[in-house]
Amino acid sequence: MAPQPDAASGTPTGRHARQVRLPQIGEAGQQRLADAHVAIVGIGATGSHLAELLGRAGVGRLRLIDRDIVEPSNLQRQTLFTDRDARDVRPKAVAAAEALNAVDPDLRVEALVTDLTPDNAERLLDGVDLVLDGTDNLPTRFVLNDVCVRERLPFVYVGVVGVEGQCLVIVPGFPCLRCYIPEPPPPGSLPTCDTAGVFGPAVTLITSLAAAEALKLLLGADDVRAGEVAVVDGWRGEVRHLTLRREPDCPCCVAGEQTFLEASAAAEPTVLCGRDAVQLPATAGPPQLDRLAEQWRDQGQVRTSPQMVRLDAGPDLGNRRVLLFADGRMIVGDTDDPAEARSIRARLLGH
Ligand SMILES: [Zn+2]
Repeated sequence: MAPQPDAASGTPTGRHARQVRLPQIGEAGQQRLADAHVAIVGIGATGSHLAELLGRAGVGRLRLIDRDIVEPSNLQRQTLFTDRDARDVRPKAVAAAEALNAVDPDLRVEALVTDLTPDNAERLLDGVDLVLDGTDNLPTRFVLNDVCVRERLPFVYVGVVGVEGQCLVIVPGFPCLRCYIPEPPPPGSLPTCDTAGVFGPAVTLITSLAAAEALKLLLGADDVRAGEVAVVDGWRGEVRHLTLRREPDCPCCVAGEQTFLEASAAAEPTVLCGRDAVQLPATAGPPQLDRLAEQWRDQGQVRTSPQMVRLDAGPDLGNRRVLLFADGRMIVGDTDDPAEARSIRARLLGH
């Protein structure tokens, strides 16, 4: 909504008044933001900061996509969540949507508790004006890059590990993510937030740069920093920009191959970064959560919500925490061994 002039002083007093005063934004820009629709994929450290910065700036529609729940170890850097969200084991997308609507009830925020895969990526991103990367893994980022290049959707890549953060704005005609990182590196070859940790201020610093570029894209600014990788060192307080060249033989943005999108969804377990947990993909149709919750009561403490069933299992199942989501995925906690996770699923679901 456009800010109303204050009769006494003649200054705008609405929710976004201080931002509307900026010559780069103004009333027309604020309206553009209100009309915009942005998807944020992954609502962890970077995703929750991006969601907060865009939501508070008045980006009218946000689609938050995340597969996981709030954990106590998230709270050091994931500013939209509270200790209560962790205790109540709430899905991140749902907790973030509620937090944003508590800030601004006019925001239209969709919470999708699901894993973005090659099979559903186009459907999940349908209808948005911009895609922001809040993920913690390169395979999902390559799928996002494929969809966005094919659909000519602006995409902002963001990553943070340790004290360093990076972001890159990808728009048609400029280098894409595969011009920067041609192939996913072998598992285990790069540091992750598990092995290297994450410094909260590095997250804040890189997401501020990324959110500024996102707002500029939505405003139609002519000085968006496409084709430049921003690299920040949150410890030393350094910000650098590296100029990136479009690779003349990039398989994605030049040759038009969408290799990662065309791959079928991995029916493979995923070891979740920062979680000491394994995600198992759905094996059949949507589970009957209520019925399973009843069956599992002998196995330990069971809690249910519309999005999932949580089982805090007893010694028979190694005292593990198990989450079964409405989309059929299962997350088995306290292990990084896919075989062990599969065996626990077999005992609980029979397959
Ligand atoms: Zn490219």
